Amino acid sequence: MTDNYVVMGNPIAHSKSPEIHRAFAAQTQQALNYQTLLVPLEAFADTAKQFFAAAQAKGANVTVPFKEQAFALCDELSERAQLAGAVNTLIKLDNGKLRGDNTDGLGLVSDLQAHVDLHGAKVLLLGAGGAAKGCLLPLLEAGVASIDIFNRTYAKAQQLAAVAPATCQACESESLAQGYDVVINSTSASLNGQLPDVPGSIIAAHTLCYDMMYGKEITAFNQWAQAQGAKQVIDGLGMLVGQAAHSFNLWRGVLPAVTPVLQQLRQQLEQQS
Ligand code: NDP
Repeated sequence: MTDNYVVMGNPIAHSKSPEIHRAFAAQTQQALNYQTLLVPLEAFADTAKQFFAAAQAKGANVTVPFKEQAFALCDELSERAQLAGAVNTLIKLDNGKLRGDNTDGLGLVSDLQAHVDLHGAKVLLLGAGGAAKGCLLPLLEAGVASIDIFNRTYAKAQQLAAVAPATCQACESESLAQGYDVVINSTSASLNGQLPDVPGSIIAAHTLCYDMMYGKEITAFNQWAQAQGAKQVIDGLGMLVGQAAHSFNLWRGVLPAVTPVLQQLRQQLEQQS
């Protein structure tokens, strides 16, 4: 009996997760099935329970808009998932119970570490939504010196910073520092070609900028960061492949190599007309 995995979301047809996980399975010589599962908007819990009732069902990824509902469904949660308040990875334990984890932040940190030494870095995190929450603990565990958090709705930045007050602080535009080592855009502003309302002085010649969004074209934020003279700009495709690799590891006990799969996806993206 081959183990079954799915990615649950709505919409889901566009998801790259099946391709990524099938590539990981081939690379690590694991036999498994991985499909998309379109979940009706009002029926996440029922659909998940039905999927996991089958003996072959071993795990699932969860994407927009169900990460909070997946959190609520779990029998047990990792510390990362608890802090994020959201689950992107469901694992069926041997006793049939569901464990929830959140690998988005691990994916971000692995991708960042491929480009920069995070130890001692001064980080600016733009946004305080689900993705920002999921990244906080992995960034702290990577040994960053400080995390300033800026968000359109200041109160949410304050709430997030309160999780680790020794290292994190909420900032308004005027209190932002100059020339951070790393600036991470976790806002969804780029989806509409918009920019978070921050001054160009946050960027210096040594600054690495990371936009969690990705696409064929450079994102609005990364375009702006380049114009401010950032040393390097990176989009979120590596985070996507990275979070999948960490989910795969939780299910299968082996961490696949990200680079060949990332290269394959990047090539496809560039060839899209
Ligand atoms: P949420 O909806 O939870 O949070 C959105 C955040 O963006 C909030 O902080 C919100 O501020 C802010 N925001 C939205 N619009 C604007 C705007 N016009 N100007 C300034 N701030 C704005 O979304 P997520 O955290 O789940 O996702 C955020 C982004 O990260 C998305 O683009 C998503 O695609 C990407 N992502 C990428 C992943 C990857 O693997 N590469 C994984 C997960 C997410 P406010 O609080 O004021 O509303």
